[in-house]
Amino acid sequence: MGSLESEKTVTGYAARDSSGHLSPYTYTLRNKGPEDVIVRVIYCGICHSDLVQMHNEMGMSNYPMVPGHEVVGVVTEIGSEVKKFKVGEHVGVGCIVGSCRSCSNCNGSMEQYCSKRIWTYNDVNHDGTPTQGGFASSMVVDQMFVVRIPENLPLEQAAPLLCAGVTVYSPMKHFGMTEPGKKCGILGLGGVGHMGVKIAKAFGLHVTVISSSDKKKEEALEVLGADAYLVSKDAEKMQEAAESLDYIMDTIPVAHPLEPYLALLKTNGKLVMLGVVPEPLHFVTPLLILGRRSIAGSFIGSMEETQETLDFCAEKKVSSMIEVVGLDYINTAMERLVKNDVRYRFVVDVAASNLDK
Ligand code: NAP
Ligand code: ZN
Ligand code: ZN
Repeated sequence: MGSLESEKTVTGYAARDSSGHLSPYTYTLRNKGPEDVIVRVIYCGICHSDLVQMHNEMGMSNYPMVPGHEVVGVVTEIGSEVKKFKVGEHVGVGCIVGSCRSCSNCNGSMEQYCSKRIWTYNDVNHDGTPTQGGFASSMVVDQMFVVRIPENLPLEQAAPLLCAGVTVYSPMKHFGMTEPGKKCGILGLGGVGHMGVKIAKAFGLHVTVISSSDKKKEEALEVLGADAYLVSKDAEKMQEAAESLDYIMDTIPVAHPLEPYLALLKTNGKLVMLGVVPEPLHFVTPLLILGRRSIAGSFIGSMEETQETLDFCAEKKVSSMIEVVGLDYINTAMERLVKNDVRYRFVVDVAASNLDK
């Protein structure tokens, strides 16, 4: 926009290749336009999708790549047309920072499904510069893709809501999975799964965690508040639970057979796929036909739903269960996430690292 302001240089932690190793990287932020907000990053959660992008599992990665799409920060500057935010306000940025604004998805408040969506990182801004994520000191984001953090929500708690939280909240609303007393299964108890337990409980559902081991059982029942816990390898218990659930949210990030889980659904039950699995999954059709079951997918949520998720969690006092770490620990945190060794989301204290000093 013909800005005369000088370009801002920031430092982030970037992957340089598909090894995914993150190290300090200094780059220039795009110039602030009239609709933009500059956000100084305070916290940023680590999502399993960051691993997928850093390691080029989808074959679409560009480097250097600064990941991070559960960003909580403070507004430090606003463009001349920004009415929604003030300097000093706490805000959040999730998985997308742009869309076309004219397609049916954009017009229907479903900009996450816009084919011209701009990902928060590993994508290209309208001005041709690469987008870079939240493991960095600051970001420039169009106000439409920024949400407000409610005052009573601790900032580190808010970070996982910006991807993991809205990823379960949106399909729950869309598929009508909010009727108290209905039975919901959460398959895979990681970052997304644990928000699934918390948010489903806040809607009044009966929640069964379906996990690959019994390691998380006590915590799931006693701390997260799940009502039941199934270990997927326990054939006898899985058989006992046949046709008992109305919905399952599947967050497993690797290839897995669907039959054992479809068999848990009642007639009209829905299996909502949330995990990003680049390989084909397997099921036989009678498991769908003889029970009018459905398999669906869902991708994060709209900006409206992202704000709703934050407001809902603030109102219902839904908290995430996190491990806060410093940026100097980020590579270890990524390794632990690969090994399924986190309860249940890493949140990086970006501000404490004084990246620009
Ligand atoms: P995560 O924290 O790593 O959790 C995944 C969970 O899946 C693990 O905690 C584990 O739960 C289970 N799991 C892991 N490896 C497994 C294996 N080999 N076999 C069976 N179960 C396994 O990941 P996340 O951040 O929650 O993300 C989950 C998935 O959702 C990822 O694929 C991510 O890319 C995707 N995602 C999608 C969206 C969307 O919009 N649809 C948004 C965010 C993330 P148990 O220990 O209980 O078995
Ligand atoms: Zn994510
Ligand atoms: Zn669009």
